[in-house]
This record gives sequence, structure tokens and C-alpha cells, in this order.
Amino acid sequence: MADPYGFLKHARAEGAKRPVAERIADWGEVSAELPREERDQQVRTQATRCMDCGIPFCHSGSAGCPLGNLIPEWNDLVRRGQWEAASERLHATNNFPEFTGRLCPAPCESACVLAISPLAGGAVTIKRVEQTIADTAWEEGTVRPRAAAVSSGRRVAVVGSGPAGLAAAQQLTRAGHDVTVFERDDRLGGLLRYGIPEFKLEKSVLDRRLAQMRAEGTRFVTNCEVGVDLTVEELRAGFDAVVLAVGALRGRDDRVVPGRELTGVHLAMEHLVPANRFCEGDGEPAISAAGKHVVIIGGGDTAADCLGTAHRQGAASVVQLDQYPEPPHVRDDAVSPWPVWPLVLRSYPAHDEGGERKFAVAVERFVGDDAGHVRAVHLRKVRVEKDAEGRRQVIPVSDEVEELPCDLALLAIGFEGVEPMALLDGLDIQLSRRGTISCGADWQTTAPGVFVCGDAHRGASLVVWAIAEGRSVAHAVDSFLTGSSDLPAPVHPTALPLSVR
Ligand SMILES: Cc1cc2nc3c(=O)[nH]c(=O)nc-3n(C[C@H](O)[C@H](O)[C@H](O)COP(=O)(O)OP(=O)(O)OC[C@H]3O[C@@H](n4cnc5c(N)ncnc54)[C@H](O)[C@@H]3O)c2cc1C
Ligand code: SF4
Repeated sequence: MADPYGFLKHARAEGAKRPVAERIADWGEVSAELPREERDQQVRTQATRCMDCGIPFCHSGSAGCPLGNLIPEWNDLVRRGQWEAASERLHATNNFPEFTGRLCPAPCESACVLAISPLAGGAVTIKRVEQTIADTAWEEGTVRPRAAAVSSGRRVAVVGSGPAGLAAAQQLTRAGHDVTVFERDDRLGGLLRYGIPEFKLEKSVLDRRLAQMRAEGTRFVTNCEVGVDLTVEELRAGFDAVVLAVGALRGRDDRVVPGRELTGVHLAMEHLVPANRFCEGDGEPAISAAGKHVVIIGGGDTAADCLGTAHRQGAASVVQLDQYPEPPHVRDDAVSPWPVWPLVLRSYPAHDEGGERKFAVAVERFVGDDAGHVRAVHLRKVRVEKDAEGRRQVIPVSDEVEELPCDLALLAIGFEGVEPMALLDGLDIQLSRRGTISCGADWQTTAPGVFVCGDAHRGASLVVWAIAEGRSVAHAVDSFLTGSSDLPAPVHPTALPLSVR
């Protein structure tokens, strides 16, 4: 039984971060490493704040954790210092808690009962507890390969090695199927590898999980674009089922803004991928912020990742632009009442590292020099409205134009769905109006025996949803191959998108 008064005795405390000057001088994760005993004690105290609610909103689907993480159970185990048992309960619902513990925006925390009133001192630091359980388990060597006892003799191809593909592959391998993950990049991990920067997720954390998966029997093939390097005929002939976990990597562009064609104006991923490759030892990035005045267009976490990357590369200045007005700093119950995801200003550790944020502004034009390189941006103050058909309209509200110096402009304005690819043409799969791959209640696409999960299915989303969909699609594929499945299925394909990003 948890301590129902714990939250009255202990204040909420986030984990410490390394000093800004130190962390922007390297690429390591921003969190400070504490001596083990001190870390354990701090996190046990935080877990003690959990009341073990009769109805734990943190744990449930639409507002809380999409994975159905057994949060009150492992909070209580941590409170008692039973780290290995806590890890067992955490891994029961989440293949990769070391990723979500670092990366998740934690809808569980905004749905925590202690977040209802500021008088309760704030939500339990669930994400911090999760990461510490996972890290402790890896440090103690208790995350071991779990090979299947019996082989089914059925072969499954997973296309894409992001968190959705990896979760599906691990579940299906453990269920006894012969699973091969195909990845067109030279390294595995999808956006975990080449989108999300090292300072949010050190790639050694990804590599040790991949080693566990290899030891369990999952095979990996890199540098292989399915549909091209492995034809659809070969795919069909070689496998009994196929999982499409190809992501939603078609970056949204803004071609209509005058000056978009100037050199120095790029999509965010053109900046982030080479920066991640640099951390992997692939040499200096072709697009770097070093010594430049950087303007980032967009307000989400891709924009924040560009911000942190620009500072580590030695930018002269960084300004981040958002078309929307600055959101409130605390939850407005009239707009987004508890336990739903609150509409509040999101700040990331990268925002503590410098740079300026401007709200309710839009780029009117990129201004170039004689060599055709961007040298400035012109901004106008705007408001955003919906027209009669519900389309977004950006309306200037002043004639005043502000000029910002700019040698590198980064468009971090979202993703438009799955990229066009030979694989989908070969399987005769059409994209939905949202640019995603639709499926039935059994996660099967219009191509028989071909399933879909992750961003490819729900559009650009979150790591936690990718894992939840990967686990659910594994249940569906296992049922398809064997007639029934004991694998868990945390989410249904029609689960409402969570407007977290
Ligand atoms: C910059 C950035 C930062 C983010 N930060 C966060 C964060 O902090 N927290 C969070 O929760 N979420 C974050 N996200 C979102 C999160 O990364 C995604 O929701 C998640 O990675 C989706 O997983 P996925 O497996 O569906 O697809 P992806 O991770 O996109 O992986 C898809 C993979 O499929 C491969 N592929 C595609 N087609 C083929 C083919 N034909 N053959 C072989 N391989 C193919 C691609 O190369 C890619 O590796 C971020 C996203 C971005 C872009
Ligand atoms: S809602 Fe908060 S206090 Fe209640 S069980 Fe979940 S973490 Fe604990």
C-alpha cells in the first residue's frame, strides 16, 4: 500500500541538469549524473509522492499513458527500493522505457491526480522514476535477452527500424517468429538515430537495446530500401507477413514564401540528420550553424532540437519563430481541463541554453545577398484563424516589417505524412488524405498480410505511441499467423490522436 500522505511530506523535484555552459560544449545528455545512492534516494522520495489512486488516470489510454504503464505499481516498488521488481513491471508494458523515460512529454504527468490542483504540489515525477528504473536495470545487468522457447517457423518482415518497427519486431521475435527488420539507412533506429539529437538520447542507449534484440534472434538488414533493394516480389515470396513501420518523414515545406529558394534556407531535418551523423563519427556536417545567425521557424520539439543543435555548433544568435500567440504558462481549465493534455507553453532544456522566442509572427520573405544566399528574414505580426472550410489562415495584423539577420533559416513546421516510395506503389497501397496508411481493426492494410504501425499509420506523433502501436500490431500479426495471440495490444487503430505535438 502506497503512502497516501507522501505528497504532503515531499515536494516535487525534477532531476538536476548539467550547467548550460558545460552541456553546450559537448553533445552528451543534458541531465546531471548523480552518485548512485543519492539518485536512488531522490527518486524513491519522488515515488513516495504517489498515492496509488483507486482510479489512476496516469495509467489509462486517452489522457494518460498510451502503453497502459502500471505506474502506481512501480512507483510503490521504487518507494520500497525494489528496483528489479519495478523493472519487471515496467517492461511488462513497455519494450523501451529507457527511450520514453528520456523522450516522452509525459501525458501521464499531466493526467496525474496530483496535477488537479496546484495545492497538491504538482504531479508525481513519473518520467524521472521511469528513466531511473530503466537505467538501474541496465546498470545491474537485469535487462537480459528473452529468446522464445519455441519457434513458429513463420517469417515476418518489418520495414523500418524506428521505435514502432523495433517494438513490433521484439514482440514478434519473443512470440517465436523469425523476424527480419529492413532499414534503408546505414544505421538502425529511425528518428531515434538521425532525428532526435544525442543531447536528448545518447545513441549508446539505443545500441545496447539493439544488442539485446539481436541476442534474442531478431535479424537486421541495413542499407536496404524495401521496394527497391528488395523487390515487392522478393518480399512477398520470402515472408508470411509484412509490417510497414516506415514513419511519416515527408517534411512540410513553405515554398510560397518569397526567397525560399535561397541557399541557407533548409528543412529542419537537413540540419538535424548531419548533426547526428557527426556525433556518430561521420565527419563535419554540410549544414552547420557555426558562427551563423540562425532563424528557426516552428514551435514544436523539432524546432527545439534545432535550437539545441545550433547552440552546440556555435551559432552567433538563434531566434525561434511561432505563428501562434504565446500560450499560457499554467493550465487554463476553461480551455483544457484536467486530465486532458494542457495547452501551455512548452519549454525544453534547449530553451534554457539561450536564444530568443518570438510569438505571433510569420516570415514575409527571406532576403538574399548578391550570391543568392539568405542574409535576413522579414517578419510581420500575424494572427491565425480558421476559414469557413476549417483551413488555417495566417493574417498579418500590422504593416510594420521587422528584419532579423539570418545566415541559416530552418523550417521546422511539421511533417505531411509518409514519403512516396516504390514499396507502396508495388503493394498498391494508397495514402489517406492525411498522407498516412490506413488499416482495418486488425491493423491490416488494403494489401493482404501487410500491416502498418507508428507514424506511418497515425501521422507524425510520439515515441510512446510508436511503441504502443508496434506492440499492438505484433498482437495482430501473431493472431494472423497462428490464429490467436497472447501478446498484449495496448491500443486500437482508431485510438484518438493525442494532440501532444
Ligand atoms: C526532430 C524530431 C524530434 C522528436 N523528438 C521527440 C521526442 O522528444 N519525444 C517523442 O516522443 N517523439 C519525438 N519525435 C517523434 C518520434 O521520433 C516519432 O514519432 C517516432 O520516431 C516514430 O516512430 P516510427 O517507428 O513510426 O518511425 P520512424 O522513427 O520515422 O522510423 C521509420 C524508419 O523507416 C525507414 N524506412 C522508410 N521507408 C523504408 C523502406 N522502404 N525500406 C526500409 N526502410 C524504410 C526510415 O528510414 C526510418 O528509419 C521527434 C521527431 C522528430 C522529427
Ligand atoms: S495519478 Fe498520480 S498519484 Fe495517482 S496513481 Fe498515478 S502517479 Fe500516483
